Amino acid sequence: MKCKYEKLNGHCRRKALDNSNRGYCLLHEGWNHKNEEETKEEFYREIEEGETDFEGCILPEVNLSGKKIDGFGISFYKATIKGDIYFNDARIEGFVGFYGATIEGNAWFSNTTIKGQLIFTWAIIKGLVLIVKTTVEEHASFDGATIKSIAVYPSTKFTALTFKHAKFEDIRAEENACRMAKITQERLGNRASADYHLYREKVAKRKQKRCIWRYLELPIQYIFRYGTHWWGILFTWFLVAFGSAFAYWFGNGIAMANEIIGISSSSSFFDFLYSFLNCLYFSSVITTFGYGDFHPVGSFKLLATFEAIFGTFMWAVFIAIFTRKYAR
Ligand SMILES: [Zn+2]
Repeated sequence: MKCKYEKLNGHCRRKALDNSNRGYCLLHEGWNHKNEEETKEEFYREIEEGETDFEGCILPEVNLSGKKIDGFGISFYKATIKGDIYFNDARIEGFVGFYGATIEGNAWFSNTTIKGQLIFTWAIIKGLVLIVKTTVEEHASFDGATIKSIAVYPSTKFTALTFKHAKFEDIRAEENACRMAKITQERLGNRASADYHLYREKVAKRKQKRCIWRYLELPIQYIFRYGTHWWGILFTWFLVAFGSAFAYWFGNGIAMANEIIGISSSSSFFDFLYSFLNCLYFSSVITTFGYGDFHPVGSFKLLATFEAIFGTFMWAVFIAIFTRKYAR
C-alpha cells in the first residue's frame, strides 16, 4: 500500500508502514528511538539513489557533509528535523530548501557551495545557525523565520541575504545578521530592503545599550526611523504644532497689535474657531519661517522659542532624509 501523505503536488511514493495508523511511510510517520537507525538508513539510502524531495518528512538528522547533490535542488519543505543539519564541505548544484521546516538542533554550513537559493523562509530553527566559508550563488532567505541565534562569518559569500519579518532570540545575532543583509541589499541596489535591514540593525543595536541610553534613543527610532522614513517627522511636527496651538489658545498666549487672541477673546462658536485657527496659524508659521503678524506674550515666548528651534531642526532632518531616499 502507498503512503497516504499528501504533498503539495501529488502523493508520497513510498510504501506505507504496516503498523501506521495514518497509513504513512517510515519518513512521514515520525521516528521514535526504536526506529531511529532504520529511519536514518532509509533517508541516506534515498539520498544515494538521488531522491531530493523530503517534503513533510520527520527525520532524526540531516547530514549531507561531503556530499554532492546534483540536479534541481533538495527540499525539506515543512519537514521536521529532530536533530542537527550538516552541509559541511557539501556541494549542492541547485537550491537547498527548508521552507516552513522545523529544525530542533543546529544548522551547520561550513565550506559549502550552494548554486541555487538557500531557503529558510518561515522555518523555525531552535539551535544555532553557523555559516562559514560558504558560497550561496542566489538569494539566501530567512524571511519570516524564527531563529534562536545565527553566526554568519564574513568569509561567506551571499549574492542576496534577507531576514524580512524574521524573529531572533539573540539580539546581538540579529544586529549582525541584519547588517550582513543590508550590505548585500545595498550592493544589489535594493534600497528599500537595505533600509529595512538598516532599521532592524539599529533597533537591535539600541536594545543592547545600557539602561538609560536604550531609552534616550527611542525618539530617534520612532520619530526619525533611523533616517529610513520621513513620515515620522511630519507626524511629530503636526502633533507639536497642533498641541502648541491648543496651548496658545487655551493660555491666551498670542496677541496681534496688543490684542490677545485666545479663549478669553471668544464669545461665540465662530469666535472660538477663529481664535483657535489663528493660534494654529501662528504655531505652524513659527515652526517654518516665523512670519510675525502675531506675537507670543508672557511665558508663551518660551514655547514659541522651543517651537522655532524644533521646527528648524525638524525641517533640516526632513530634508536630509528626503534627499537620502529620493535624490541619490
Ligand atoms: Zn510518505
